[in-house]
This record gives sequence, structure tokens and C-alpha cells, in this order.
Amino acid sequence: MKLVSYSTDGGAPHVGYIEDGEIHALGGASILEYIEQGRSADRQPGGETVSLEEARLHAPIVRPQKIIAIGLNYEDHAQETGAEAPEKPIVFAKYPNTIAGPGDAIRIPPITEQVDYEAELAVVIGRPAKNVSESEALEYVFGYTNCNDVSSRDLQFSEGGQWTRSKSIDTFAPIGPYIATRDEVPDPQNLSIRSVVNGETMQDSSTSKMIFPVAQLIAFLSTGMTLMPGDLILTGTPAGVGFVRDPKVFLKAGDEVTIEIEGLGSLTNPVEAV
Ligand code: ZN
Repeated sequence: MKLVSYSTDGGAPHVGYIEDGEIHALGGASILEYIEQGRSADRQPGGETVSLEEARLHAPIVRPQKIIAIGLNYEDHAQETGAEAPEKPIVFAKYPNTIAGPGDAIRIPPITEQVDYEAELAVVIGRPAKNVSESEALEYVFGYTNCNDVSSRDLQFSEGGQWTRSKSIDTFAPIGPYIATRDEVPDPQNLSIRSVVNGETMQDSSTSKMIFPVAQLIAFLSTGMTLMPGDLILTGTPAGVGFVRDPKVFLKAGDEVTIEIEGLGSLTNPVEAV
């Protein structure tokens, strides 16, 4: 099922699922509530439907308890940055203020001039996970969505090596347009993943190139922290980011960025200066 948060005519968001180009209402105000109630399999045939053209889509998860991001998790990306492939996952935080929805602007504040895109598979946790084994880890996944792990490179590399501030600027984690439930993605390690800036493909890879696959990340993270329903794990980005290109590519007002992962639709965001 492809779950969306949507509204019509400026009204409050509702939860629905996409089928045959239409949104079918599921009731309830948030997908997070829906996940917490364990209602992932309820279809409601015969309910209210809205065409995709009439609806505005919102970020499918608005206030996750945690957004856990993984650095340098693709071999080709580690290589292009000149870094060794890590022996353990590199973990950093993005806070919920970073969440933006499909079509929402990525807003660049005056404190940064080097804003980069990163196409990433985002994992949405479905139930509390603590000390989960790798073989069972995927059973704790609710679903998957696209994420753009927008990053301020000038802050990232000028503030003593910490990444969280440079990655937690408001609007720097667009997600969506929908969450595909786990049953729609039988193998999260075999998906094409792309980013496109102003019509030009910048990253074009496969989730098969992850150094630490999704199941291993969940097992690793859950040994220290309890993963909760709605938590997002951003699983790292493949090669082709802007700051290692020649010439470098940074996002600026007027640009448009699209992230596309196989089976997860297309997430497009304009860029604005604020
Ligand atoms: Zn990233």
C-alpha cells in the first residue's frame, strides 16, 4: 500500500492510500497514528476517493521521534570523498524541524552558501525495536520512502567535524511523496536510486551498493536505542553529490531537486533563499 498524507482545498491533512491514480481515504489525521495503531493492512474499499490532481500531498511523517542518518554508507560515495569505507556505521542526527513534504521549498538561510543534495532510502520503523537480530530486523520496518538529506557543506566542514547542525537546518529533510509499506518492497537492497537537479541526473546508483544494508543498520542501532514507530533511518547516499563534482554543484534559489527510488515514486522540491 502507498500511504499518503493529503489535504484538499486547504483543509486539514488526512491519511489515504494511492491506487489507480486516486487517493482512497483511510480516516485518521496522521500516518504516524496509523502506524502506532498497527493498522497497516486496512484497506477500506468504497470509502471517499480524491484524484491526485485535486489533492495536496504533505510529508508522510511530520514529527518522528527520531531521524537517524547514516554517513558514508555507499562504497562509491566514500571513495569520491576520499574517505575509507567505515568499519561501523557512522551515525548522526537530523531533527524533526528538517522535515518537508513533496513540493515544499528547501529554504536556504544566509548562514550557508554550499547546500548539497543527497538521495537516500528512508526506512520507516513500524514497531518498537530493541536488540533486534539482523535476520528479524526487516519485520520491524513499516515501509520506505524517498528522502533528500540536504546538507550544508560549508558548515559541515568548518565546525569541528560534527555534522548534526549542518544537516538539521529547517526543511533540510524532504520526504515522500508516499510511504510504500514493506510488502511492496520485498528487497530494499535492490532498488535503483537517483537524484536529478534542474533536469540533470546527478546520482544514479543502486541500494545494492550500501556498505551496511538496512537489516544490519536496524540491528546495530537497536542495540543502544529503542527504535519507535515512525522513526526514520536515512540509509546514506550514493556517489554524485555536489561538493565532490568538478565543477562543484550547490543548490541555489530557483533550482528544483528530484529524488527517485524504484517503487517509491518521485519527490520534487524547489529551492528558495530566505
Ligand atoms: Zn546523507
